[in-house]
Amino acid sequence: MNKKVLIIGGGIAGAAAALFLQRAGWETVIFEAGTGGVEAGGGMQLAPNGMRVLHELGIEKDVIESGSIASEMYFRNQKGKQLGRMNRNVQKEYGHPAVNITRAAFHKVLLRHLEEKKIEIQFEKKLVDAGTKPDGTVWAEFEDGTGAEGDFMIGADGIHSKTRRAVLPDSPDPDFTGLQWIAGWLPAGNVPEFDLQSRNLNMTFGRKGFFGYGIFNEEDPLLMWWVNITSDEPLSRVEMTGFSQQSVKQELLELCSGWHKPVETIIEQTTGLIRGNVHDIVSLPRWYSGRTVLIGDAAHAVSPNSGQGASLALEDAFYLAMLLDRCSDDFSLALSRFENDRRPRVEKIVEQGRRSGDGKREMSPFGAWFRDQMLKVIFPLFGERGNRWIYEYDVRKELNRNRL
Ligand SMILES: Cc1cc2nc3c(=O)[nH]c(=O)nc-3n(C[C@H](O)[C@H](O)[C@H](O)COP(=O)(O)OP(=O)(O)OC[C@H]3O[C@@H](n4cnc5c(N)ncnc54)[C@H](O)[C@@H]3O)c2cc1C
Repeated sequence: MNKKVLIIGGGIAGAAAALFLQRAGWETVIFEAGTGGVEAGGGMQLAPNGMRVLHELGIEKDVIESGSIASEMYFRNQKGKQLGRMNRNVQKEYGHPAVNITRAAFHKVLLRHLEEKKIEIQFEKKLVDAGTKPDGTVWAEFEDGTGAEGDFMIGADGIHSKTRRAVLPDSPDPDFTGLQWIAGWLPAGNVPEFDLQSRNLNMTFGRKGFFGYGIFNEEDPLLMWWVNITSDEPLSRVEMTGFSQQSVKQELLELCSGWHKPVETIIEQTTGLIRGNVHDIVSLPRWYSGRTVLIGDAAHAVSPNSGQGASLALEDAFYLAMLLDRCSDDFSLALSRFENDRRPRVEKIVEQGRRSGDGKREMSPFGAWFRDQMLKVIFPLFGERGNRWIYEYDVRKELNRNRL
């Protein structure tokens, strides 16, 4: 077949798509804006549906070794009162674990596999424009003045996708959800009150914000945490990059003063932190144009509140590669099936992520009390059951169900 696919963005979706497509016999080239060095980023959880895709790629074990298997999710209020627990038997229920991992460590595993499979990735290739030629083939232009041409293009360049802007110019911009995030890290051993054997993902709902923490790396256990805070306006680029770590820590210590142990010690002992805005994209009118298709955050960014961003990106990569393999002589059929089949699932998850973000906003003392009472009812009734349809998703079964 030997058709050439240009993949814009070598993050999670782009790297996974290249690995799947190469296996199906396609020639792929990834164009990545970054330098290929160590990236910033916080922690993420790969849910069993994402781990199932990594199993298909044969890299599940490597990812587990670079992260930490989460034993369960534990929800409390700021006084430490338990509100709920879920995901206790994930491996047994779904055949794959939930894994906490830093975005940088996960990306490193993917890049290593690209190298092993000799898949070409070109760094410092920031897309500035793209389009379709009269014969239907595609072109891309990069900031450094170079360009590329191919039979097909995948826009996997994340939430602020330039591919989207170029080929689907009427798409809405990502929505600011009214929340900002702060994420930090520290050696777990620096927090005497933290049980080093615990692999719970701990979530605390406070009146003025939300604090989550857990182990994200087994070697020299690394404790990572993240906070969501209500914010009327998105942070500017300068506020996101040029802030003083000490003053943000101080702000957080004031916000979390009197919260249950070990929240304050975790903040005090933090060795590095980053911050940003929570955006999402509820629905794009189209995910493809001609022979260019968007996947991952470029098509449907979910807020980190869903815990599904990376897992959905992996599902997209696998689903698209299988469709292209099965309908390789009819791109437009493959792309319309991709959008039609994937859209209902991902949009439902984006909505769910928004709703769970609402519970993390600043509220009145009564509002927080009422939320806690609701959560105590909701977790046992719907917590575990409510996520079943998300975790059990299997790309192969879906394709068979959709008769492809
Ligand atoms: C540096 C970084 C750190 C992150 N940290 C976290 C985190 O801590 N927790 C979390 O939940 N999510 C994090 N994310 C987002 C998370 O990776 C995604 O939400 C999810 O994995 C979906 O993956 P994706 O491949 O669609 O998008 P991404 O993982 O965002 O990948 C997009 C890729 O496209 C590249 N790119 C962007 N613009 C261009 C362009 N014009 N031309 C070429 N390449 C381009 C980016 O450099 C990136 O490598 C991070 C993303 C990045 C880029």
